[in-house]
Amino acid sequence: MAQLIDGKKISKEIKDELKAEVAELLKQGKTCALAVIQVGDDPASSVYVGNKKKACAYIGIESLSYELPESTTEEELLSLIDKLNKDPKVHGILCQLPLPSHICEDHIIHAISPKKDVDGFHPQNVGNLVIGEKGFVSCTPAGIIELLKRYQIPMDGKHCVVVGRSNIVGKPMSLLMLRENATVTICHSHTQNLKEICREADILIVAIGKPRYIGADYVKDNAVVIDVGIHRNAENKLCGDVIFEEVEPKASYITPVPGGVGPMTIAMLMHNCVEAMKLYS
Ligand code: NDP
Repeated sequence: MAQLIDGKKISKEIKDELKAEVAELLKQGKTCALAVIQVGDDPASSVYVGNKKKACAYIGIESLSYELPESTTEEELLSLIDKLNKDPKVHGILCQLPLPSHICEDHIIHAISPKKDVDGFHPQNVGNLVIGEKGFVSCTPAGIIELLKRYQIPMDGKHCVVVGRSNIVGKPMSLLMLRENATVTICHSHTQNLKEICREADILIVAIGKPRYIGADYVKDNAVVIDVGIHRNAENKLCGDVIFEEVEPKASYITPVPGGVGPMTIAMLMHNCVEAMKLYS
C-alpha cells in the first residue's frame, strides 16, 4: 500500500508559513498585492480565480480584481497590463487562462513584466529555469517539487519519467527534476513504448490530460506516482490521469485526486507573489 502524499495538508502548511511572513513584513510597513485579471466569465476560470482570491485573503495579500468583459480587445488588455507593470503597489500580475480566442495568449504572457510574472510563464523566467538562474517557476511543477521535498522523497540520481511536455507542466517539471539531479525522460504523444518507459521510472509524473489513462501496468513496484491530471467523470466526480485504485497498491507514494497536486498550485502562486514583493519592491 502506498503512502498518500497529502497536498491539502502541505499547501495549508505553506499558506500558514506565508501568512506569518506577510504579517512580519506588514510590521515593517510592507504590503503585498496581486492583480488578478479575468476576461469573460468561463465558469471553470471563475472557480480558479475565486480560489486564488480566497488564498490571498487568508494569507494577507491584497487581491486587486479586474473582471473584464468577453469583448475586451487585446489592446485594452495590454494597456491594463502596462499600467499594472508600472504600478509599484502591484507585486504580481495573474491573467487567468484560457483567454477568448481573439486575444493572443503569447502576446499577453510576453507583456507581463518578468518581475511580476508570478505564474512563471514569461520566456525570461522560463529561460532562467533552463540555465539554472533564479526566476519565477510555473506553480504546478514547483508545487510537485515542494511535495517531494516535504515528504523527504529523494530525487537525486533517481530515474524520473514525465509524461507530458506542455509549457505549463511537463517541460518545467522536467527541468526542475533535472535541477534536483534526477535522470529525466520526457514522454509525449509521439513516444513509442510509453508503457515500458513508464515502468522504468522511480518517480512517475503524469500530466497527460487524459482521464484514468495510466494503470498498474505502467508502474514499477514501489515507484513514486504523481498525478497532475484533473477531470470530472460521468458522475461529476474528480479524477486524475492515473487509475488510482489500480496503481496505489503498487506504488510507494502516490498523490490522490483531488487533494494531491491541485492545492499546491495556488500555494506556490502565493509563494511567488510574496517573493516578488521581497525581491522587487
Ligand atoms: P496539455 O494537454 O497541454 O498537455 C498534455 C501532454 O500530454 C502533451 O505534451 C501531450 O503530448 C501528452 N500526451 C497526450 N496524449 C498522450 C499519450 N497518449 N501518450 C503520451 N503523451 C501524451 O495538458 P497540461 O500539461 O496543461 O495538463 C495536463 C493535465 O494536468 C490536465 O489534466 C490538466 O487539467 C491538469 N492540470 C492540473 C493542474 C493542477 O493544478 N493540478 C494545473 C495544470 C494542469 P504532445 O505534446 O505530443 O501533444
